[in-house]
Amino acid sequence: MKFKSIKGTKDILPDESHLWQSVEQHIRSVMETYNYKEIRTSVFEETSLFARSIGELTDIVGKEMYSFIDRSGDSLTLKPEMTAAVIRSYIQHNLGKKQPLTKVYYLSPAFRQERPQAGRLRQFHQFGAEAIGGSNPEIDAEIISLSAAIYKKFGITEFEVRINSVGCQKCREEYKFILKSFLSAIANKLSTESQRKIDTNPMRVLDSKDENDKQLTIGAPLIKDYLCDECRIHFEKLQSLLQIAGVDYVVDGRIVRGLDYYTKTAYEIISNELGSQDALTGGGRYDLLVSELGGKPTPSVGFAAGMERLIMILKKRNKLNVTAPHPKLFIAAMDDKSRNRVFQEIFKLRNQGISCETDLLNRSLKAQMREADRQQADYVIVIGENEINSNRVSMKAMRTGIQQEISLDELPNYLTGN
Ligand code: AMP
Repeated sequence: MKFKSIKGTKDILPDESHLWQSVEQHIRSVMETYNYKEIRTSVFEETSLFARSIGELTDIVGKEMYSFIDRSGDSLTLKPEMTAAVIRSYIQHNLGKKQPLTKVYYLSPAFRQERPQAGRLRQFHQFGAEAIGGSNPEIDAEIISLSAAIYKKFGITEFEVRINSVGCQKCREEYKFILKSFLSAIANKLSTESQRKIDTNPMRVLDSKDENDKQLTIGAPLIKDYLCDECRIHFEKLQSLLQIAGVDYVVDGRIVRGLDYYTKTAYEIISNELGSQDALTGGGRYDLLVSELGGKPTPSVGFAAGMERLIMILKKRNKLNVTAPHPKLFIAAMDDKSRNRVFQEIFKLRNQGISCETDLLNRSLKAQMREADRQQADYVIVIGENEINSNRVSMKAMRTGIQQEISLDELPNYLTGN
C-alpha cells in the first residue's frame, strides 16, 4: 500500500523550501518595517469560535471547515483563517492592556475543504496582519499600504488594490433591504447558488463568479452609495490617505468579502496573472468582532494574503533567484583508512559553525567528488595518508578551480574569513 498526500495539500520539498524561507523572510522584514510583531496561535480552535466570527451562513463555515470531535467530545476545527484565532488570543491574554493599538502579523497554514485547482488548496498558507484597537482611517490606510508594500518588495507592481466600504450595521441593514428587493425581481434568472443567497447573504450575490449573474446585477444598487455619514466620511478620508501614502487604488463597489464580520473598509488586491483565483489579498475593518467574541468593543482592521499565490507569481516571473543552501566545504576520504580522520575533521568544523559535508555511504573517491559537485560545495579537500601525516591539505575552490595548500589547523579561520 502506497500512501499519498491528502488531496489539495502539497509537500514543500527540500529543493523548494529555501525559496519559501526566503519569501517568508522578506515578508517578515516588511512587517517589521511597519512595526508589526509576530503572533503564533495553535493550528486548531473550538469550532464555535469560527461559527461565531466568520458567520454561520458563510461558505467557509457552511461547507468548508475541517471540523472534528476529539476524544473528549469537543468539536474542534483546523483554522480556516487567522483573524478569529488572533482576536481570541488578544482577548484571552488581554493584549490591549499593554498598548492601545496592538499591531501583529502572522504566517500560518490555513485549511478549507474547497475544490482544489491552480492557486486553490485545502491546506494553504497565509500571511497577514491585524491592527487591533483603533477606528481611524489612518490605520486602514496603513494596513492596505503594508499589504501592497509586500508585493512591491518582491518587485511586483502589476496588481490592483480594489477598495470599498461595506458600511456599518446601521446603513448596511437599510441597504440590504433595497438590494434584496432588486434581487428578488430578477431571482428566477439568477444561478441557484445566488438565489439561495438572496435571503441569507444578499451582498455575496454581487461577487458571484457566474457570468450570467454578473450581467444581471450590473445595475444593482451598491452599498457605497448608501453609506451613513460616518461611514462615508471614513471612506473618503481613507482614499485621501491612500493618495498621501502613494498607494494606487480603484474603488470597486462590488467588493463585499465573504466573511460576516467586516464593517466599513473592505478591500482586495487582485493580480491578472493568476487565472480564475486572482485574489492575492483580502482584508478590511472589523469593528464588531472583538465584542462579538466576548471582548470590550475594539475597532480593528487587518488583511490576509495567500503565500502560494505570491510564490506562483514570483516563479512565473523568475523572481525567485535565491541560492540554495549548500555546504561550504566537502571533505572526501582518499581511502577507507582515512575515513575516521575525515569524520573527526567534519565534526570539529561543524562544532565551530562551519557547514560541511562528507560521504556517509563509503563511496569511491570518484563518487565522492561527484557528490561534492552535486552538493555545490564551495571548497573540496581530500584527506589521505599524506595529508594526515603532514597535516596539510590541498583545498580546491569549486567555482574557480583554484587550488591552494593549507594546514588543517588553519581551515576554520580560512572558511570563516577570520
Ligand atoms: P480570504 O480570507 O478567503 O479572503 O483569503 C485571503 C487570501 O488567502 C486570498 O486572497 C488568497 O490569496 C488566499 N487563499 C484563500 N483561500 C485559498 C485557498 N483555498 N488556497 C490558496 N490560497 C487561498
